[in-house]
Order: sequence, then structure tokens, then C-alpha cells
Amino acid sequence: MEGLERFDLEKIREEILERYPAKVARKRAKQVVINRKDPETGTPPEIVANVRTIPGILTMRGCCYAGCKGVVLGPTRDILQITHGPIGCGFYSWLTRRNQTKPRTEEDQNFLPYAFTTDLTENEIIFGGEKKLKAAIEEAIAAFHPKAIGIFATCPVGLIGDDIHAVAKEMEEKYPEVNIFAFSCEGYKGVSQSAGHHIANNKLFTDVVGLNDEVKEGRFKVNLLGEYNIGGDAFEVERLFERCGITLVSTFSGNSCYEDLTRAHTADLNLVMCHRSINYMAEMMEKKYGIPWVKINFLGAAATAKSLRRIAAFFDDPELTARVEEVISEEMAEVEKVREEVYPRTEGKIAMLFVGGSRAHHYQALFEELGMRTVAAGYEFAHRDDYEGRRVLPYIKIDADSRNIEELEVGPDPVRYRPRVTQEQAEKLKALGIEFMDYRGMMPEMDEESLVIDDLNAYEAEVLIERIRPHIFCAGIKEKYVIQKFGLPMKQLHNYDYSGPYAGFKGAINFYREIDRMVNSRIWQMVCPPWEKTAPLEGAYVKEREEESYAHATHD
Ligand code: SF4
Repeated sequence: MEGLERFDLEKIREEILERYPAKVARKRAKQVVINRKDPETGTPPEIVANVRTIPGILTMRGCCYAGCKGVVLGPTRDILQITHGPIGCGFYSWLTRRNQTKPRTEEDQNFLPYAFTTDLTENEIIFGGEKKLKAAIEEAIAAFHPKAIGIFATCPVGLIGDDIHAVAKEMEEKYPEVNIFAFSCEGYKGVSQSAGHHIANNKLFTDVVGLNDEVKEGRFKVNLLGEYNIGGDAFEVERLFERCGITLVSTFSGNSCYEDLTRAHTADLNLVMCHRSINYMAEMMEKKYGIPWVKINFLGAAATAKSLRRIAAFFDDPELTARVEEVISEEMAEVEKVREEVYPRTEGKIAMLFVGGSRAHHYQALFEELGMRTVAAGYEFAHRDDYEGRRVLPYIKIDADSRNIEELEVGPDPVRYRPRVTQEQAEKLKALGIEFMDYRGMMPEMDEESLVIDDLNAYEAEVLIERIRPHIFCAGIKEKYVIQKFGLPMKQLHNYDYSGPYAGFKGAINFYREIDRMVNSRIWQMVCPPWEKTAPLEGAYVKEREEESYAHATHD
């Protein structure tokens, strides 16, 4: 297998930084690091994350509204979600993540194909938009009779000061059969979509979770947190749970419905997939209801097997353990067959991953199964703990952007708090390598000497592509076409380009085949990027021009 040693990553890092003005280079240097771990402790280097993008840099990030409405609430089919803002925010957040859903009966509500928005215009920007929001809620209730309505604020709403929470309260008093709640997730809040995840978690926790004490039938009850059913991933995990006899109370929030979310507090274990987007919910549920959480990963066949074994170890039931082992060995037979077939064609190829707040970590497991190396990876909206592990939490400085997001005070529920594990059980599980409320982060598991870049931008992506020429680049829709114009296959991992699922065992098989097809296709050699046919436009900052003409004038 080709190793990282064939790239001088230190030199590439320097090349990236040297083109920046000195002040920008100093800032970016802390976000572009070589994963050189301490030889004694194995701890990775410190990385700066969750800080503002420097103005002028073309970031891959999304806004707070996108994180709240698009990511966390997006996949719940029967909460009617109204974007209070201009049509652009509403229209472009419509189904962009390709979340799928399967209503259980024909009568079940499904609002995913719709885009609801108040379509704010100049008139409301001047005179206020609350009236229009009330009218939209009335119209939505009359036409769709939803059980719940979420209201999502966009940038202009925060700027003009509409009180969306007061509107929600007033409308809920008028329509008590509908749970109406609002999210102050104006796009500009925080430094990325990460702020929106936190705001979404808070509101779901206070206004939805815990409303229904009805306990779902089943013995081993879990919630799956941070699995958003992109390309049907949650369907595959649900299939596996069913085969193993594990009862899924609620998913936050892939293929999810309002009713399941209201009784999520009745589960016995929370499984956290995307740590960044949902760790707030896991922690608050532990404090209020006594439900412990463990970090799991259903991306990659080996990771899926490990996660199922973790669940079985937690419940410590011989019948469940036997069933889980049986399922793993049955499913792995087909996985191994396909992997062996594909491996000689993918082995030694190079991948780069710049996605989300956990996917850049999780997908490395899938590439490893194909014998591929991840040379460079990073997140769009992660915090330091997603990179370095939760052990750094006490050392993360809270800045003004994070203070902007409400931190809820949560204590044990006087009636519903029930600790699910004794100290003795926790010790026993720890001895098996199962830690509760912990996540080791991406860097400890990533190759030594690989490049880790937080908040990658368009210019840095270009340098990486030119110097390394990976066999595949994984990112989102904003990067897709530029990467393809470079003559490289590009895999969207926020939205699987109409394929998937990639989770679980069947998902791993789909991924193996898809990556084999992509990295071995000869079509990419035929791509001639537009900038090789037409001379690129050149420009200079006005300031530079002024300096040049000043130098010219003084020289004359
Ligand atoms: S940044 Fe503001 S205006 Fe842009 S999509 Fe997000 S909420 Fe809408």
C-alpha cells in the first residue's frame, strides 16, 4: 500500500500558509495541523476549531439556520416546519439533504416533500413580520392539521426583532391541540451550522422530549442520536436492530416522527452517532432521565459489528449476545465476499474527506476496509473535542460566539429520573473498553503524519488537489463541481448523489461497489477544466493597486 511518506505534507502545509497575509497565516496555521501524536501518551496535537471563518475566505460551512432546520429537525416527517424568512432560505433548505422517511401507515403525516415559508419581503422588513407568521400558522393548521409546528428564524428575522416565541405561545393558546415552538436560529448566530444544532437540541429537549410516558414494547430499548437517514442509512440500522431484537424508541432524527421523539426518555441507552450535532441532547437526557450514552458508529462493517456488540454488552443478556453474534456472522459473509472482490482494485488509493462534524471520521473506517488511505481530513463545523476527544473539554475556552447560544440548566426529573447503570456495571463495562459519555475523537484514530484541516476553504482544497491528486475527494454540494472540473471523482457525503445507504453491513457493500466504480472510472482522465482552455481572470486588491501607483508616482 502506498504510504503517507510519499507526500511531503509538511511542505504542502507550508505552501498553503505562505500565500496568506501574515495575520491570516498565523490564524490558519493553528487550524492546519500534521497529526503528529505524542509518542508516549498517544495524544494528538492541539487544533483550533469552532472559530469564525476569516472574512474573504470561501468556506465550506453552512449557517446556523441550516444546522437547526436542515440538519436536526429536517428528517422528522410530521413536524410542520415553517421558515420565517425570505424565500431563498426556505427554498434552498428544501430537501437538500435527501433525507428519506417511511410513514408507518397511509394516514401518517409526512411534510418532507413540502417547503413552508412566510416569504418575508421588504414590507415586513420595514413593518415587522409577526402578522405574516401568525397568518402562515393559521393557514398551515387549516390545511394540514399537524400535531406540531416548528418556526425557524432566519437572518432578517433576528435583525428586525420579530418575537417568534411570543407568536408561538399565542398561537398555541389559540390551537391547544398543536404543539407550537420556535427556534431562534438566525443564520448569523455562532460560527457555523454547529450553533443551530445546539439550538435545535435545546428546544426539542424542552418542548418535545418527555411529553409522553407511554413505554414502547420491547426488551432492549435504545435511541439512536445523530443518524439523519441520508440515502436510507437509518432504514438499514433499523433492519439490523430488528434482526437482533433491539427496540428503537426514537431516532434523532432520521426517519423520525413526533410521537417517538415525545417518548424518547423511556429508552434505556442512547447511542450517539454524530457526536457534534447531538451530544447536547445525550448529556441533557442523562442528567434529567438517567439515560447513559455511548458513542457508536454504523459506518463501516467492522464498526457496525463493534457497535452492535457494545449494545449487547450494555444489556448483558445471553440471548441478545447470541443473536447479535449470529446476525454479525451472517451479514459479514456477504460483506467479505464483496470486499475481497473489490479490494485489489481499491487498495493503495488515496482519499480526502472534508465533511460535517463526524462523517470525516466515520468514513475513514470504510476506506480502510477498502485498503485506501485518508491523507487529509477535516470538519466544517466541529469543535476541538470532535478532533481531539472529550478529554479536552475542560480546556476549551468559551468565546462570545458560543456564549451567544443558550446553555440549559438541567437537573434530575423529580418523577422520571431513573439511573440505568449501577457503578458496578459501569466499572465492568469500562473493563471491556466501553466508556459511557466519552468520545475519543478523530485524530487519535487517524494515521500519524496525516493532514488535519479545520474549516477547509476553496483555495486550500485546490492546493491539496494539485499537490496530492487524491483518487477520491469527499465533501458537499458546494465543492462538488469544482472538484469534478479538476478531473477527480467527488463523493458527496452530506447527500449521497442518489445512491446509498452506506450504513450497516448492506451499506458497506453499497459503498465498496460505489467507490470501486468511482476510483477506477477512466472518464476523469478526459476532463479538461475550463481554466486550461481559457486564460483565468486576474485581479488585484484596490489597496495593492493604490500602493503600486503610489510607488510608481514617487519613483517618477
Ligand atoms: S445565512 Fe441567513 S440569509 Fe443565508 S440561508 Fe442562512 S438564514 Fe438564510
